[in-house]
Amino acid sequence: MSDLIRRDQRSVWHPYAPPSASPLFGVDSADGVRLRLEDGRELIDGMSSWWACIHGYRHPHIMQAVEAQLARMPHVMFGGLTHEPAVQLCERLLALAPQGLERVFLSDSGSVAVEVAIKLALQYWLAQGRPERHRLLTVRGGYHGDTFATMAVCDPVNGMHDFFRGALTEQVFAERPACRFGAHLEPHHTADLESKLDAHREELAAVIVEPIVQGAGGMWFYSADYLARLHALCESQGLPLILDEIATGFGRSGRLFAAEYAGVTPDLLCVGKALTGGTMTLAATLASPRICQTIGAAEPGALMHGPTFMGNPLACAAANASLDLLEQGQWSARVKAIEQQLQGELAACERLPGVADVRVLGAIGVVELREPVDMKVVQPAFVEQGVWIRPFGRLVYTMPPFVTEPADVSKITSAIHAVLSEHAG
Ligand code: PMP
Repeated sequence: MSDLIRRDQRSVWHPYAPPSASPLFGVDSADGVRLRLEDGRELIDGMSSWWACIHGYRHPHIMQAVEAQLARMPHVMFGGLTHEPAVQLCERLLALAPQGLERVFLSDSGSVAVEVAIKLALQYWLAQGRPERHRLLTVRGGYHGDTFATMAVCDPVNGMHDFFRGALTEQVFAERPACRFGAHLEPHHTADLESKLDAHREELAAVIVEPIVQGAGGMWFYSADYLARLHALCESQGLPLILDEIATGFGRSGRLFAAEYAGVTPDLLCVGKALTGGTMTLAATLASPRICQTIGAAEPGALMHGPTFMGNPLACAAANASLDLLEQGQWSARVKAIEQQLQGELAACERLPGVADVRVLGAIGVVELREPVDMKVVQPAFVEQGVWIRPFGRLVYTMPPFVTEPADVSKITSAIHAVLSEHAG
């Protein structure tokens, strides 16, 4: 065991881990799609650092933008002050996002962007003198973050609602959207959703879902018709719809925003993760005119939120540079090519005994197992294969950077096949 790992295990707490995490690998540096470990081994990154690093590590255009901003002004408070990187970013996000959104609130992480969306939805009803409309409706199998308001709309089982019972607000859950992506939507697919919307219509503040791709709650891809139907139902009830595009935003699903598959614009849209190309932490909540106008017109007339590092100029510079790269347009063909390759190459996993389902959408490839993996065995096995894949529960998946070359995508898919042949089922 290296000195770094030993020191880490004495003093550091890792995500979703006991006080002393194991197994653990020290990273020395990262370049392109490769992570270099402290022992000199190189791993092809099949995770894009939790789906964020879409252009690969140390992209020269992003590095140059961050360095230039560092030389000028690394940070300044956003209360009462503004700056070019933030204004430019907000203008560009509004231009790129589904049309009809009017204003952007910047924050530091995806969970906070969702918290802000929830707060805006509650304030929208408070501004209309309807304090009783404070509950949220969502679907099972979702994931929206780890803070308390977001946990309350995560899947009740994955989100450990029983564990935190009493501390979490009880929200309304409809069934997971069962209609697969590309399948025909039948009335029974939305029956539970429709009855819950109806039963709770006087107390709901908003509906919140991840569009098309349910990420950390189960890596499930559902029908665009379901999303279109949900949007229409919300419209008919005058109920705000929050779309959480933190995992899907910026091309991951094959569209710039997954909402485009259904041709819908929500009232509130959350982005994060790939916003800065995975360079820095930054997230944003985009709001529709009716949300902005309603809140602005009533007491207190302001959104009651303001993170210290809101609109951090370095993060905004990284995000603007990442958007430059996306606007060059090659991402779309690259994601399509990765999608086709993942479809072709992961199909072999369907024949493995422990595998329940294989599915691919955009640059997301998922192998769902019948039983959870043993991370103590499987994680080092992937490292031995020269790839960084981090499964959770019964899900082994890859979301590689969009710039991953075909030969490297093949290394990821053959590693998944090899590790599951030996350790699943
Ligand atoms: N929403 C979705 C859809 C996510 O995938 C995530 C992160 N996995 C979050 C919210 C929370 O983002 P963060 O981890 O940056 O707080």
